[in-house]
Amino acid sequence: MKDAGQTQNKNAIVEFRGVWKRFGALEVLKDINLSVGRGEVVVIIGPSGAGKSTLCRTINRLEIIDQGEIFVDGKPQPVEGKELYKFRAGIGMVFQSFNLFSHKTILDNVTLAPRKILGQDKAVAQDTAYRLLDMVGIRSKADAMPAQLSGGQRQRAAIARALAMDPKVILFDEPTSALDPESTQDVLATMQQLAGQGTTMIVVTHEMSFARSCADRVVFMADGAIVETASPDAFFTEPESERARSFLASVR
Ligand code: ADP
Ligand code: MG
Repeated sequence: MKDAGQTQNKNAIVEFRGVWKRFGALEVLKDINLSVGRGEVVVIIGPSGAGKSTLCRTINRLEIIDQGEIFVDGKPQPVEGKELYKFRAGIGMVFQSFNLFSHKTILDNVTLAPRKILGQDKAVAQDTAYRLLDMVGIRSKADAMPAQLSGGQRQRAAIARALAMDPKVILFDEPTSALDPESTQDVLATMQQLAGQGTTMIVVTHEMSFARSCADRVVFMADGAIVETASPDAFFTEPESERARSFLASVR
């Protein structure tokens, strides 16, 4: 097994040390060791049920681990209360299903958390929101309701909303799985742009082209474990494990 995932990284934004997670008798994460550096783009791939979503959800403590430690920006996760609330606000999440507030405009969706959690005043939050909506290509939709947007536009709004909190890291869990091919390309282009700007990103995806072109490292998971960690070049041309070879054969 390649050991890039175990390398101690002084600049780590997210670090898993010996993390285990069980649902009843089912071991969903088995001794996860992974360090994601500042500005790094780590793409997690693997078959359904591998534990990819659970791994993402442990980072902001939406799932509580049974064993091991997770450090974010060098600090242990807060356990509860206001500290946990603030901590979560510093981690962006973009899921498969669009988690926008359906009864609020796109602009309000983007400004809500910066105003409520960071205490930004309206003008500042709106300036930032317009800049971010412009960046993701949907500034003209600022006053629209989520239902008036295409799936790809909604997902880009969700990205703008995450960015508005100036997060330490953004977690993407299959952000394009529910989208048509054209919307998928729009969202991937936005993600590629973020990657190019040095955003720290953990991305679960089946889009191998994105992994190839944007990942600094590919993490291959199966059955709750990290099977391989490698550069995209190495992983896609010469995966080390039989498990990864058969997975790649199935998605190509
Ligand atoms: P992936 O995202 O790689 O498809 P998941 O992290 O969603 O995998 O799931 C890993 C395993 O954990 C699966 O077997 C899934 O059924 C199980 N699992 C996920 N969430 C729960 C839960 N809340 N309760 C029980 N089992 C769960
Ligand atoms: Mg999943």
